[in-house]
Amino acid sequence: MNFIEEKILEKNNLENLTLRFPPEPNGFLHIGHAKSMCLNFGLAEKYGAPCVLRFDDTNPSTEEERYIRSIIRDVNWLGFDPSKITFASDNFYFIYDCAILLITKGLAYVDESTSEEMAEMKGTPTTSGKDSPFRNRPIEESLDLFNKMKEGKIEEGKLTLRAKIDMANPNMLLRDPVIYRVINKEHHRTGSEWCIYPMYDMAHPLCDYVERITDSLCTLEFEVHRPLYMWFLENCDLELPLPEETEFARLNVDHTIMSKRHLNRLVESGLVDGLDDPRMPTISGLRRRGYTPGSIRDFCERVGVTKRNSMVSHLLLEECLRNDLNETADRRMGVMDPIKLTITNWDKGTEMVEIENNPGNDETRMVPFSGELFIESEDFREVANRKFFRLKLGSEVRLKGAYVVMATDVIKDADGNIIEVLCTYDPLSKSGMEMDRKIKGTIHWVSREHGIHININEYDKLFSPEVVNDVIEDFNTESLIINNKAVFEPSVNGLERGVAVQMMRKGYYVMDTKDNVLNKTVSLKEGWNG
Ligand code: ATP
Ligand code: MG
Repeated sequence: MNFIEEKILEKNNLENLTLRFPPEPNGFLHIGHAKSMCLNFGLAEKYGAPCVLRFDDTNPSTEEERYIRSIIRDVNWLGFDPSKITFASDNFYFIYDCAILLITKGLAYVDESTSEEMAEMKGTPTTSGKDSPFRNRPIEESLDLFNKMKEGKIEEGKLTLRAKIDMANPNMLLRDPVIYRVINKEHHRTGSEWCIYPMYDMAHPLCDYVERITDSLCTLEFEVHRPLYMWFLENCDLELPLPEETEFARLNVDHTIMSKRHLNRLVESGLVDGLDDPRMPTISGLRRRGYTPGSIRDFCERVGVTKRNSMVSHLLLEECLRNDLNETADRRMGVMDPIKLTITNWDKGTEMVEIENNPGNDETRMVPFSGELFIESEDFREVANRKFFRLKLGSEVRLKGAYVVMATDVIKDADGNIIEVLCTYDPLSKSGMEMDRKIKGTIHWVSREHGIHININEYDKLFSPEVVNDVIEDFNTESLIINNKAVFEPSVNGLERGVAVQMMRKGYYVMDTKDNVLNKTVSLKEGWNG
């Protein structure tokens, strides 16, 4: 149980518990948002309480309808079920009325200062700020100017509405923050109805109030905003009970970045193939890479909810994925770096052999076997020590689900590279038959005639340094490696897109949802490209 759950239980108000997840529709959700969702929707699920999905759509210059669609899809894909979908813009009239109330109470004023002038007058954390020359303008005048702002008679940047709080407060956020500004942009929901928009710090507490949120959970950087959050709730003549804000540590993962804005920048730069590029930490990128909802939820569970910011290793995320896929993923065979193997005493043409799909159940599939196969180059050596249990000249290995073969000779090209391995097979060694000797090694294979070629995209870390400073400079230019040699058993053609399978002994792979290519999801063991 984390400290937030303890706090909620202490309040002894479970029957009213109401939570929300409030993304701004200015990009795709990332794994950091998954942590917030697991906390909010997770707690709601556990206590049978509602959890609202609220789009924080107060800035039409950065928000788009397509982001709303992708966010809803991601929330559902992760298995969360919002009690309601709402929009901050649903409450624009209420928030506006609160602004009028604040002006009337002498707690807000219209300022004519430019943003540079305001910054100059703001002071520093150790020196107090200066009052704006408009701070004490008559209430009537502010009401009139605010009305002009609303009527579209004021250019962007010319006038703002500011809360009248305290220009000397050590908390800089309380030094008369701007609470409304003019933005002359179409809003994706309210169209051109409004040309003034409330700032996040004003909209958020008021939306929480309207939706009867009891616990507004946000990340630690909002701790300093909390007095402002309370200021609005306490000065807008609202009925009790009021929502309460609690902060928790945001998720950071090494070698990647948790910021919609920066991820958007990476896409604009053309370095990745969209916000759902399989290298991206977005939910849709992870999905395209072959991640499962279960693995992401397990990861968030293991990271936990604390009050201290820290960096989590991407290896933990991979480990959660491996654990999940190991249980659930079907097995297939694919040879990543093929070398030809010919069985010189084979005279049966094609034989179908039965191979299990997953050690955890009895499902099987039929795979074509023949006298000409591909095996992994690294699975053959002319000479090797006794610990090499794969194929070497003069010794035997089992071909998975089929027969035992013995390597008898090799064919080399003019440069001395082995291009073909010659073997004989033992007809009495078919998988399932009683054997008079023990065969230590089993290797995977693909029938040459039946094998299908599909390119593989293998991925490495999106950013080279552990901590990302600049998405362009730190981008790992070798994060995508294309393998165009790989060959697979024919059933790989019928794989469901987006559902990862284990290529025996090689790792997990998934058919891409857009292109005819296999994405490498994760290696079998810890480490990149392993
Ligand atoms: P971004 O910089 O990616 O846009 P944000 O915090 O501005 O992040 P919002 O859309 O406002 O994104 O976030 C919705 C919710 O998700 C907020 O409650 C926010 O605190 C939470 N959240 C965002 N990033 C993280 C993270 N890395 N870890 C945990 N929670 C996060
Ligand atoms: Mg944001």
